[in-house]
Amino acid sequence: MNFDNILLFTDLDGSLLNKKTFDFNAASYLIKDCISKGINIIPNSSKTDLELNEICEDLDIPKIYISENGSCIKGLNFLSNSLNKEIILSRSKEIILKNFIENVDMNLRQKCLILENEPLQNQIEILGLPKDKIPKALNRKFSFPFIFEGNEDQEVQLKTIIKKNGLKIQFGGRVLNLGDEVSKGNAMKKFVSLLSKQTKKNYVLICVGDNENDFDMLDKCDFPCLVKNGPIKKMNFKNQCIFSTQEAPYGWVEVVNETLNKIEEIKNK
Ligand SMILES: [Mg+2]
Repeated sequence: MNFDNILLFTDLDGSLLNKKTFDFNAASYLIKDCISKGINIIPNSSKTDLELNEICEDLDIPKIYISENGSCIKGLNFLSNSLNKEIILSRSKEIILKNFIENVDMNLRQKCLILENEPLQNQIEILGLPKDKIPKALNRKFSFPFIFEGNEDQEVQLKTIIKKNGLKIQFGGRVLNLGDEVSKGNAMKKFVSLLSKQTKKNYVLICVGDNENDFDMLDKCDFPCLVKNGPIKKMNFKNQCIFSTQEAPYGWVEVVNETLNKIEEIKNK
């Protein structure tokens, strides 16, 4: 492995940002340190473009990210100027909604509380965001966050129908997301293959996540890291995973430091 080119893909909520307060202060120094060493930090999140733009500004990192659970890649042009500013990997929200309405029966659909149709107060409570952040969080181009009010059997039934019709439901910690057959891992692979093709370089991939919608990205990277979020999950990925003992943002610092140390050790062997 050539460790000169490291890309660090990270989930945000519950991985880098504290799941309740969204605080990331404890990670600021390490983020700066990574950037100064030439390690690109690429948020890979269920969040929208507008939210990710703002977070990149707050984190003081370039606006290079993957939004809406693998639906769209932004900012590859910052890494190689012949690459596109935006790469869309999903069908539009309108097509997804049409497919959902045509294929899911009324009974199951009525159990899906689609967040954008809910009153503002419910949106605030469900997303745990302040009022002024709601418009950015719901400015979605490819997916519908929702709460499912049916029982477990009905949820399995819903997921089966959705899958059969080429869509996908992903769970990101607070809400379910109805979207296209996309994933954070596949978007990351696309990102890296487009970049490698242009730069003729191989990249070492570090991934940080905390939840099931991160698992396929963790499985497709060289150094998977899982940040503690609630009950400990012992997952197996293709490569050995580093688990944090603390929650975000401290857990993020813990796993990233441990990974960078591990890389140093391998380099010095
Ligand atoms: Mg998360």
